[in-house]
Amino acid sequence: MKRTAKLGHGTRPARSRTAGRARSGTPVNVTSAGMAALTPTSRSTAPRRLRDAMGRFATGVTVITTADADEGVHGMTANGVLSVSLDPPLVLVSLGRCRMAEILPRTGRYGISVLTAEQQDVAAHFAGQHALTGTPRFQWEGSLPFVAGSLAQLGCRVTDVHPAGDHVLWIGRVEHMTHRDGDPLLFYAGRFAGIRA
Ligand SMILES: Cc1cc2nc3c(=O)[nH]c(=O)nc-3n(C[C@H](O)[C@H](O)[C@H](O)COP(=O)(O)OP(=O)(O)OC[C@H]3O[C@@H](n4cnc5c(N)ncnc54)[C@H](O)[C@@H]3O)c2cc1C
Repeated sequence: MKRTAKLGHGTRPARSRTAGRARSGTPVNVTSAGMAALTPTSRSTAPRRLRDAMGRFATGVTVITTADADEGVHGMTANGVLSVSLDPPLVLVSLGRCRMAEILPRTGRYGISVLTAEQQDVAAHFAGQHALTGTPRFQWEGSLPFVAGSLAQLGCRVTDVHPAGDHVLWIGRVEHMTHRDGDPLLFYAGRFAGIRA
């Protein structure tokens, strides 16, 4: 795996929550082995440790987009993306407290653009790093914008919304999809990385 420049999830909403408690304050059913691993001292560092541990799960990198009549196009970088069901075709994106989560209830639709290895600056830009010198380029499929030149594009209509801890899972039915071959952009251990496809 080819490692590239470092960028942590520093731009990702990082709100700590006491481990072992759900949003409502109801104790979560944690096994005794799990409780043993989460000592009182380690509970305060659990969000950081979870991020570090899950950071070893290499992912692709996407830009989620939506378009609002008032605000125009809005995009954000996300790797909390999952294929949920093939029939019906469902995918989800996990969003923390972010602007996108405020806009989506109005638009009800989002696009997922899977980035190429050459689009690291695009990923950094839509994570709030303003890494692009010019304006990001979008291509449209109906009323949904996608990042131009991306490897795969999926247009989704929101069907379910599930709060989960400090994130919300936005499940969408895929209404449009296209892909091409190319080298993907990866995210691993807080850094962008590449792999030859
Ligand atoms: C690899 C990686 C994966 C991530 N995965 C997730 C995840 O799964 N879930 C999650 O909640 N967070 C994730 N984040 C963090 C997330 O990308 C940032 O918190 C982001 O800033 C949230 O965007 P926002 O909707 O709050 O909008 P903002 O922070 O306002 O916008 C994001 C950036 O995009 C720019 N932008 C938006 N629309 C346009 C436009 N039309 N033209 C030009 N520029 C525009 C903005 O200027 C800003 O720089 C990830 C970050 C990284 C680096």
